[in-house]
Amino acid sequence: MNTVGHLINGQIISAGERFQDVYNPSTGEVSKRVALASKATVEQAIAAAEAAFPEWRNTPPIKRARVMFRFKELLEQNADRIAQMIGEEHGKISHDALGELQRGIENVEYACGAPELLKGEHSKNVGPNIDSWSEFQPLGVVAGITPFNFPAMVPLWMFPMAIVCGNCFILKPSERDPSSTLFIAQLLQEAGLPDGVMTVINGDKEAVDTLLSDERVQAVSFVGSTPIAEYIYKTANANGKRCQALGGAKNHAIVMPDADMDNAVNQLLGAAFGSSGERCMALSVAVAVGDAAADALVEKMQKAMQALKVGAYSEKSNDFGPVITKAHQQKVVGYINSAEEQGATIVVDGRNPQVAGYENGFFVGGTLIDNVSPEMLSYKEEIFGPVLQVVRVNSMQEAMDLIDAHEYGNGTCIFTRDGEAARYFSDNIKVGMVGINVPLPVPVAYHSFGGWKRSLFGDLHAYGPDAVRFYTKRKTVTQRWPSAGVREGAEFSMPTMK
Ligand code: NAD
Repeated sequence: MNTVGHLINGQIISAGERFQDVYNPSTGEVSKRVALASKATVEQAIAAAEAAFPEWRNTPPIKRARVMFRFKELLEQNADRIAQMIGEEHGKISHDALGELQRGIENVEYACGAPELLKGEHSKNVGPNIDSWSEFQPLGVVAGITPFNFPAMVPLWMFPMAIVCGNCFILKPSERDPSSTLFIAQLLQEAGLPDGVMTVINGDKEAVDTLLSDERVQAVSFVGSTPIAEYIYKTANANGKRCQALGGAKNHAIVMPDADMDNAVNQLLGAAFGSSGERCMALSVAVAVGDAAADALVEKMQKAMQALKVGAYSEKSNDFGPVITKAHQQKVVGYINSAEEQGATIVVDGRNPQVAGYENGFFVGGTLIDNVSPEMLSYKEEIFGPVLQVVRVNSMQEAMDLIDAHEYGNGTCIFTRDGEAARYFSDNIKVGMVGINVPLPVPVAYHSFGGWKRSLFGDLHAYGPDAVRFYTKRKTVTQRWPSAGVREGAEFSMPTMK
């Protein structure tokens, strides 16, 4: 059986570790195994990264950026192969996997602007013959820990920017679908990155805890579920590390009575069921304002969902594939059961989908639940499956209060034709990423990504301009070269410019 190893100091290593099975969620079969790094292996990787740092730190930004230019070409040349790897282990249909990769490549394109991004700030003559500038220096060895649902895109949110900023990066990807991530790191190596600058450590809690406790690791970026994000953030902080930890979500879409309902239904279909709902920006709750809007939405949605195709990743005409594991399939079904038990109406039931030829796959069909209320378990918690719930309210303010009261604040959206309502909504809603008739408002690579409330722990958002700040520390230099004639005596008061 194939083993997925680690990339340490430019070499693939997989001997002498614990192992975990990696599944093909479409068939339900084990396809390979992944090595789980021990503390000693992670420490060896940190040492290699630390050794590579001094030379990489002093490599001119333009040369670092050129590696990213070559890397982008290699990603594009290998796109189909990467999509295939994602499909095999995650279950994503190729059109969706290629979309995820493209969003990742856009972060590489942004990183290609490193010389511009790292120019810093300069002020001449802050005092007589005194100049001052701020520069952005790399931190050293930095780590990233990523989730299963975007094995290409989320790592690409992190390491291209960390590396062009002059750091050495250690990535601990999800152990559930590790192959595409490791392959992408090998492409970066092939693009000309010196050994030790990019490391991939496969593993579980032991590897993560080693990264969190080792004093040579300066900063940690995390993306995953909220309980783990909170643990990572608190532990990293307690150990004196800079940390940003992005967590889970419950993204609501307000459907106003004046919305273009056919358009809203189309947008909701993709945003709720695409990628089996396993997106942190998935729209999982539609808040319909007024019973007329709710009735129209449910009726149109129910009709449109008859055409939804769930099936194996390898069939391009499928809309979405399986969920990640058998345990997760059961968890999603458990949430649907709980909604039914608590009095909601199951309008479209995806609990027993028939996928011919893939009877052991981890499938859940598209599910629509009406009459959901805020005290229900299925409303409170992140389901992370192809389930859209409808909550009925009487006013836009009631809808906004509902969203604001939820513990998560990742993304949200409003469907309306009313510009004034949309503007009020985007101004006041307590959520980090807002769409106006745009269901998945994932910021482009030259903005930054992040939620509010318990969807993000830390100050800075991921990728884009915030990534320059996160992966560098500011140094401000104030300089004077006194000529013999202008030397001054000792000054004991605070220097000012009067
Ligand atoms: P997860 O939290 O189970 O795992 C994420 C990472 O943490 C993995 O690398 C895993 O190995 C590691 N990990 C798991 N348990 C750990 C522990 N006890 N100690 C240390 N490390 C541990 O998340 P997942 O199931 O892989 O991904 C889905 C979750 O990620 C969802 O909640 C989703 O909303 C969230 N997510 C958030 C964003 C965002 O940008 N906010 C993006 C993608 C996914």
